[in-house]
This record gives sequence, C-alpha cells and structure tokens, in this order.
Amino acid sequence: MTHDLDTDIAILGGGIAGLWLFRRLSSLGYSTLLLENGTLGGGQTIKSQGIIHGGTKYALSGSLTSASECIAGMPQRWQACLAGNGEVDLSAATVLSPHHYMWSSAGLGSKLTTFFASKALRGRVDQLKPKQYPAFFQDPAFRGTLYQLKEFVLDVPSVVSALVEGLEDRTLAVDWNHSQIHSDADGKINSITMEHKGQRTTLRARRYVFTAGAGTADLIQRWGVEGPQMQLRPLHMGMVRVPGAHPLFAHCIGTSTVPRLTITSHPDGDGNWIWYIGGEPAETGVKRDRHEQIAVCQQELHQLMPWIDFAAAEWGTLRVDRAEPRQSNLLRPDAAYCKNLYNSIVTWPTKLALAPNLSDEVLKQLQQQGVKPQTPQPAAASALPHPLIGKPFWHEAFA
Ligand SMILES: Cc1cc2nc3c(=O)[nH]c(=O)nc-3n(C[C@H](O)[C@H](O)[C@H](O)COP(=O)(O)OP(=O)(O)OC[C@H]3O[C@@H](n4cnc5c(N)ncnc54)[C@H](O)[C@@H]3O)c2cc1C
Repeated sequence: MTHDLDTDIAILGGGIAGLWLFRRLSSLGYSTLLLENGTLGGGQTIKSQGIIHGGTKYALSGSLTSASECIAGMPQRWQACLAGNGEVDLSAATVLSPHHYMWSSAGLGSKLTTFFASKALRGRVDQLKPKQYPAFFQDPAFRGTLYQLKEFVLDVPSVVSALVEGLEDRTLAVDWNHSQIHSDADGKINSITMEHKGQRTTLRARRYVFTAGAGTADLIQRWGVEGPQMQLRPLHMGMVRVPGAHPLFAHCIGTSTVPRLTITSHPDGDGNWIWYIGGEPAETGVKRDRHEQIAVCQQELHQLMPWIDFAAAEWGTLRVDRAEPRQSNLLRPDAAYCKNLYNSIVTWPTKLALAPNLSDEVLKQLQQQGVKPQTPQPAAASALPHPLIGKPFWHEAFA
C-alpha cells in the first residue's frame, strides 16, 4: 500500500519552534504537516523553565545587546496569545507566575540598585515594597531587595497542548529507521518516504522547515547536504521538592553575568511544588555527577534561604542539552535563527520565548520566496500514527 501526501509546508520537529509555526501557518491557511520522532515538546521544550524572558537577564553583562532588544517584545506577544487575541490561541495554557523576580545575594544590594536604576532597564523592572513581596519572600529572615521583572512563567506542557489542540490529525509520528529524505541532483528535497506496518507514505512539500532542536544536525546529514552547524550547550539542572513550600520564581544575582541561581516552580501533580534550579550551578554542574550536583544545590539553597527547612526535601537532577546554531566561544545566540537552505529553512529558536520571532522569520522567508497558501490540506494524514504529548519528567528525576 502506498499513500501520497502533498502539503505546502512540512515541519520536522514538534518542540515549541515547530508547534508555534505549525499553529501559525495553519491559521494563515497554509496546509501543514508536522513530523515528530519522539513526543511533542519532549525535547528541550518541556524541560525548560518556562520563563518568557524580556531580556533583563542579558542586561547583567552590562549592556543591552540586540538580544535584549529582540526579546524585549516577546512577553507582550505571548500575553496577547494567553489572552486569546494573539497570533496563536494560548487561552487554555496555564500561567504559573504572572511575574519573574530578581534578588541579590548578600553584599550586592547597592551594586544591583545602581544597575536597576540604569537607563537601559527603565520600564523593564519594578522595585517592590516588602508588603508587595510574593509569599516566599515575606519571611522576616529574607534580607535584600526584590525586583519584579516584566517577565512571567508558563506551565509548558499546557502550552504544548494548546498549540496542538485540534491539529492532531496533521501530526505524524516518524521513525527514521524506516524513513528517508530524498533529494534531487541540485540538492533540493524531493520527498520524504515513511514506512509503517507495511504501508509506505510519500510526503511532498513546497517547503520543509527543520525545527528538530538537537535532532536537526542528524536530519541535515540524512538529507546529505552541507548545512548550518549546530552546537550543544549541556546543562545539569537541579530540582528539589520541599513539602508545603511556597512557589518561587526568581533569579538570584551574584557577581557573575550568569544568575547565581534561577529557580522556577512546577506542580508535581500531588499538591507540592518542585523547585527547578538553573543558572550558574546548571552550567558549571555538567562536570559534576548527580550526588555532587545535589550537594552544590543544597549548599546554595541553605546559604541563600536559611529560613527554609529542607529536612524532608527530595532532591534530583536532570541533564539536558540546549541546541543552537554554532557560535564562536559558545556564546549565546542573539535571536531566533533561520537559514534558507535549498527548498528548506533550518531553524533554532535558541529560547522558548523567541518562538514568535522564529515564526516571523520563517514567514518572512516564505513571503520573499512567493510561497503562499496553495495546496489543499490532505484529507486524512495517512496511516501513520500521531505522536503523543511529552510528559513532565519529575517522577523519573527523583527516582
Ligand atoms: C533546562 C532548560 C531550561 C530552559 N529554560 C528556558 C526558559 O526559561 N525560557 C526560555 O525562553 N528558554 C528556555 N530554554 C531554552 C528552550 O527550552 C529552547 O530554546 C526551546 O525549547 C527549543 O525549542 P525547539 O522546538 O527548537 O527544540 P525542542 O524542544 O528540543 O524540540 C525539538 C523536537 O524535535 C523532535 N525531533 C528531534 N529529532 C527529530 C527528527 N529527526 N525528526 C523529527 N523530529 C525530531 C524532538 O523529539 C523534539 O520534540 C531552556 C532550555 C533548557 C534545556
């Protein structure tokens, strides 16, 4: 049995980049199919901290770069979507915290005050009075100044569900052990063939968009062309479940340009919050094993929040790579990356928050190339199964 699928756009990879684009192109009338070889959001997306950055963190290095300028508009774009009147409908997604916060570790108060008063940050942060502090910081033992950022934190699995809802039929689970990318002599992708239970599906698209995160390098290799280079930036995240603790969403600023800690909180499904720990320990922790990493997280948290009782806490860690276009010195790329390659576009958003920017860039390229909605949506998307949505990973991490 063979099955032919023709579509305007084929998207390879269903993380935030692919899913946002999938939803946006579909609503603009493009026929679109999304191929996923694991679970939707199951790469970096669901393992992210869910902070919709406005760039404040980058300003720590002293100057607002183009990164900060590009990302500065993102919270507003996401807010409109959460309110149900943006480019994609995220009204069903959950906001974990309407604000992300920043506080300084001891001794940095005055330095931080000057920094926050700087012209560059005007309008991006508000200093709070103690009575405005969220519950976690209300403890009298908390010393320091707390700033509220114009950034917020989302429950990422709920974002993934909202983006895919109603489009499930157009998502295809692909197994690359039984699939192939075919190209013409001039390098263009001609088709993708996928075998499943004795049935062969041939997919032809007018454009192919690569949004496979860490899987993109392998896909370009399968295609057999010279493409943009990818870099992986490994992280070793910490996590702790403290029964009864308040949720915490904040960067703690130390002396480095990377936050001393970045903590977000996520529901564990049993009524507790899990604090997910990134920032400096996650970057330096790639060289530490699980036990050493837990010890470092314990030491940092004991020192920074002595009023919290960690006696009944459970600790865990998670290793995960960030996938980005290759940069010199592993510097963080500035904005979503999109590169035209034959009849394809290779992308990395570099941040969850930049998914709207990535879609803008892809749309710009489609418009420049005159690719408008044209092909009717294929009726039934073949006999291929549909990928599932990725599950939160907390339980395994604590095991
Ligand atoms: C620990 C951590 C915390 C982070 N926190 C934040 C944050 O708070 N805010 C922020 O803005 N950014 C954050 N980021 C960055 C952000 O998560 C990523 O930039 C973003 O999720 C990348 O999205 P993506 O769609 O490109 O990749 P992914 O989410 O990795 O998605 C790629 C998808 O492609 C699929 N795939 C892979 N290979 C193939 C293939 N061959 N064929 C088909 N499909 C394939 C994968 O299964 C996956 O579903 C964080 C990242 C990490 C690792």
